Amino acid sequence: MAGGPPQNATHDETQDETTRKHVTHWINGKPSDARAERQGEIFDPATGRVAGTVGFAAPADVDAAVAAAKAAFPGWRDASLSKRTQILFRFRELLTAHRGELAKIISSEHGKVESDAAGEIARGLEVVEFACGIPHLLKGGFSENVSSRVDAYSILQPLGVVAGITPFNFPAMVPMWMFPVAIACGNTFVLKPSEKDPSASVRIAELWAEAGLPDGVFNVLHGDKVAVDGLLEHPDVKAVSFVGSTPVARYIYETAARGGKRVQALGGAKNHMVVLPDADLDLAADAAVSAGFGSAGERCMAISVVVAVDPVGDELMAKIGERVAGLRIGPGDDERSEMGPLVTRQHRDKVASYLDSGVEQGATLAIDGRETPVLGERGDGFWLGPSVLDHVTPEMDCYRDEIFGPVLSVVRVASYDAAMDVIADNPYGNGTAIFTNDGGAARRFQNEVEVGMVGINVPIPVPMAYYSFGGWKASLFGDSHAHGMEGVHFYTRTKAVTARWLDPSHGGVNLGFPTNG
Ligand code: NAD
Repeated sequence: MAGGPPQNATHDETQDETTRKHVTHWINGKPSDARAERQGEIFDPATGRVAGTVGFAAPADVDAAVAAAKAAFPGWRDASLSKRTQILFRFRELLTAHRGELAKIISSEHGKVESDAAGEIARGLEVVEFACGIPHLLKGGFSENVSSRVDAYSILQPLGVVAGITPFNFPAMVPMWMFPVAIACGNTFVLKPSEKDPSASVRIAELWAEAGLPDGVFNVLHGDKVAVDGLLEHPDVKAVSFVGSTPVARYIYETAARGGKRVQALGGAKNHMVVLPDADLDLAADAAVSAGFGSAGERCMAISVVVAVDPVGDELMAKIGERVAGLRIGPGDDERSEMGPLVTRQHRDKVASYLDSGVEQGATLAIDGRETPVLGERGDGFWLGPSVLDHVTPEMDCYRDEIFGPVLSVVRVASYDAAMDVIADNPYGNGTAIFTNDGGAARRFQNEVEVGMVGINVPIPVPMAYYSFGGWKASLFGDSHAHGMEGVHFYTRTKAVTARWLDPSHGGVNLGFPTNG
């Protein structure tokens, strides 16, 4: 924990203790930090230095944020669809104009290279664009004359105050899986972003305000379990969207559901990429390295396990090795860097520990990222280069745990069926991919595999905004995926109306159950 008086600055990047940035909540259209007795430190992962602090919410801050969102709800719910879409379009333009600035903010706190951070904003923008079509998405159904002179129709209405709790690895994109759709549907929103890289969310709140969103419709609450529990237990929060690790996802799901809330909780992942003997091995090696080491493996859709079907293992390993040798590791703001540092020292050390445990348990450390040189190193950053463990088996800790770092495990199997057994036995089911030139094998894979998002010769099959994002098994608790029509349904409830306008033929008491006639 760090001390010091709060200042309402969100993106001062100086290192001097007196001028370090301090990130505040955003409640009812303005910064708010009056009660921040507890604070967290924000690091620059490329140098290892403390770059600033973030105020942690106390229960009173949670109440203030939810109260602001609750007060804003009636006005926003009743705002016309054209007013809502005008604001969404303006927000889209502002996000586009500030994409570079946001990418720098994200890179400075998360560590990912700026081009990658710009990519996450681009994917978030797609959800904003999807939400710009809300008048079409909110159309209900209408049936005329379901009975004599009786019409039936359905209306999609917002829930009220909804909350989003998000992870460190996509500080802009993952919140944008949630709030554009929630707000477009007429809800008001409280975002609890990761405390590790909180600044992007506040800048986004400023852009919403500039776009004309009424105060209180979008609020940001920083902090830890205190803030999260406050939201989970608050009677005025009607729905909770969560993205993060599986143990926390399970906790969020159980706690929010117990409180009668609607909840979707997306969890961790272990994504397998199956390479069949007929695959183009150059394409497969490019894909494994790109999807394994992009964003230092800190992506829920990263490929963490390559399942090499005999006899491709040796040749594929050689091709992966050639490509890893050419990767450039360095600070996120250095244009030469292809991969940045990990998010914290503690996380880097934990990820690196799997290299030792893997070897102790019988794997071969084919590439040791602890020896990778770093471009323009500026201090004691949280570095770990791309690493490859070969001959991994499902009993090993490096296979069983979600490592969430630049460590690619290679499991060798004798057949397609053995590859399918490996995936089926894994508790996670977020993403997967198959590399093959056999359309029949690919079709069989897409049909049989128990995973929510499938790539065919595509290693990171993140669905477009107009489809929905979500895994199966321990990668999702709840029944709604994020964005797309599932997002619209998650953030609305349907009202079915049956209407009869009186005419001269009405009349008569009838105690029977209503039937059509
Ligand atoms: P995390 O679970 O540690 O934290 C996520 C959020 O929960 C943060 O806002 C954090 O403050 C809060 N939190 C943490 N511990 C908590 C607790 N005990 N009680 C209440 N709240 C708590 O996850 P992370 O380390 O920030 O992110 C990485 C994880 O997120 C990985 O497991 C990754 O697979 C997962 N992830 C999943 C998806 C997906 O779509 N399935 C997408 C991105 C990331």
